Amino acid sequence: MRNLDEIKGIGPRTIKLLNKIGISNSNDLVHYYPFRYDDIKRSNIDDLEQDDRIIIDGIIETVPTLFHFNRKLDKMTFKLNIGSKLLNVSIFNRGFLKSKLLIGTKITIIGKYDKKHNMAVASELRFGLLTLEVIEPIYHITYGLTGRQLNNLISNFLDELDCVDYLPDYLKEKYNFYDINKCIYNVHKPLNLNELKKSVNRLKYEELFYFMLKMNYLKMNKNNKIGLKRNVDFEKIQELINELPFKLTIDQEKAIKDIYDDLMSKNRMNRLLQGDVGSGKTIVAFISMFINYLSGYQSALMAPTEILAIQHYNNIKNIFKNYDIKIELLTGKLKVSEKKKIYKKLENNEVDIIIGTHALISEDVKYNNLGLVITDEQHRFGVNQRGNLKNKGITPDILYMSATPIPRTYALTLYGDMTISSIKTMPSGRKEIKTILKLEKDIKDVLTIMYEELKLKHQVYVIAPLIESSDKIDLKNIDEIKENLEKAFGKIYNIGVLHGKMENKEKDEIMEKFKSNEIQILISTTVIEVGVDVKNATCMVIFDAFRFGLSQLHQLRGRVGRNDLQSYCVLVSNRDTERLKILVSTNDGFKISEEDFLLRGSGELFGYKQSGDMNFSIADLKKDFKILLKAKEDSEEFLEKYFNIEKYSYIKEKIISTMDLD
Ligand code: ADP
Ligand code: MG
Repeated sequence: MRNLDEIKGIGPRTIKLLNKIGISNSNDLVHYYPFRYDDIKRSNIDDLEQDDRIIIDGIIETVPTLFHFNRKLDKMTFKLNIGSKLLNVSIFNRGFLKSKLLIGTKITIIGKYDKKHNMAVASELRFGLLTLEVIEPIYHITYGLTGRQLNNLISNFLDELDCVDYLPDYLKEKYNFYDINKCIYNVHKPLNLNELKKSVNRLKYEELFYFMLKMNYLKMNKNNKIGLKRNVDFEKIQELINELPFKLTIDQEKAIKDIYDDLMSKNRMNRLLQGDVGSGKTIVAFISMFINYLSGYQSALMAPTEILAIQHYNNIKNIFKNYDIKIELLTGKLKVSEKKKIYKKLENNEVDIIIGTHALISEDVKYNNLGLVITDEQHRFGVNQRGNLKNKGITPDILYMSATPIPRTYALTLYGDMTISSIKTMPSGRKEIKTILKLEKDIKDVLTIMYEELKLKHQVYVIAPLIESSDKIDLKNIDEIKENLEKAFGKIYNIGVLHGKMENKEKDEIMEKFKSNEIQILISTTVIEVGVDVKNATCMVIFDAFRFGLSQLHQLRGRVGRNDLQSYCVLVSNRDTERLKILVSTNDGFKISEEDFLLRGSGELFGYKQSGDMNFSIADLKKDFKILLKAKEDSEEFLEKYFNIEKYSYIKEKIISTMDLD
């Protein structure tokens, strides 16, 4: 390994640029992989169609004519002898090359073929004829460093590669993998497609193997942690279940049983409860806290928004009204004095169940004997916050809840360290939400649908995306919509507005009014997105729907259809209608998240950036699912049979040194 400044030909400017993309030595450099390849091969011009990409070489036959449109734009044209005929070539903004493009000069061009006019519009011009097929690595071009420059720099080291091979021999044999150095060489200087593919596959495998090894190691570590002692008779739980206003679904029962078993076992629980919007996760959480309460421990339930925390607080008080369980609500917006009171109570064990927002993990909060931590809508929290909360107890059991069904690949990676319970069946009696896509010009239809529902004494959500620039918010959208709805419905119905920047008290008031049907139309931003539950709301209109991810829209529409009434979701958008049609065609959150995943990638799956863990340098979760599955199996086997063997201690070290084991 060499430092960048020891290398001939790299100046301070280039070093700066390289540092910016995370490269500080020769080792980083060779591990900076191309993200795709260009296959440079002479096109067979007779096979090309109009507008196809063309790669062709030949000899210049005419003196190029140069035309300047203005100071910034010029166009050069000439005829190129490509053997079978003369091809007209035009290229923009290469006027400076004119003096070099003499008749008889051999060149290669890459561009677009205009068959009708026997013409190629070149985007690239290179001197010299094409030799053999060339596979050109393409790097993310970053901060003014071109891919060519980068490749040249990397080439300096390819003949002296001595990277440690971190894959166990038996796996290399199993898949017939090349040695690591050969692979690195090949990805930067591919000889042919076959060699390239073999090399790329190994690097992808290696990356995913290590990822899964870490995940499985984490999982093993967590599962082996000694849990809290509990001894609760399931009969007591059953009694509570029997008192509920509804019958639990089979999946809810199963999830409760899973959690009960986890809590009773000697190991610590680390479980994800996954279920589509409206599938009824909340009651499972409440019952889990009941089990924990009966065991004599405190429980914390963390929700991503105030509205949701308040809703949970009200619901849980209702569910446990016949029990002497002490429940408190803690949110960031409480007065300091009120907060302090709650902190005291928590510390003195005068609270059994605390419901709240981020405030629950603030440094000031000290628990007396926290035994169970539940995070609702877990994907809305960063991974770090996840860590913080569980550090609050001694070894509290952990339950995460997520409403976005996660595509398999994503689940394996993001939640690879957890056991999963799924609620797949909806509570019975639910009707499928009807989703309708409308253009803005058809707003009359939208108003009609709203009116039909309002006439039935049902309520309507109207969602308006809030335009938010760094610290300012622009309420224009909401105001405009409100004005128009006032015109249409204002005489008969009450309209309320809700957005995240409002005062807490105001938000509560509006929400309360909507719940009690004093307000019939609620215009809101996506603060309503998660969890909110008003059963009489049967219609949701979402303006500028194209601004949202599919999963997010699915979440939003999950606010309606919460009882046995027919519900509607109207998406209003002039753009992106193909994508939005997916929502019209299915109510299956799992399918929708798969589509979102394919369209937008994991990072944006939930409309929020996830942790950096998901940034693979060569593997691509969208494409490499098969490799991921193999890596998963192999990493499990490795952990079980080889991890503690002296021979592989270097792997163990690598894993442990890069991991935060809390
Ligand atoms: P989510 O899984 O999206 O958090 P909730 O827990 O908010 O869903 O449940 C949605 C609604 O369904 C709530 O009003 C809840 O009271 C109701 N519910 C939950 N389970 C059942 C059930 N088994 N039968 C009928 N209604 C149920
Ligand atoms: Mg919920």
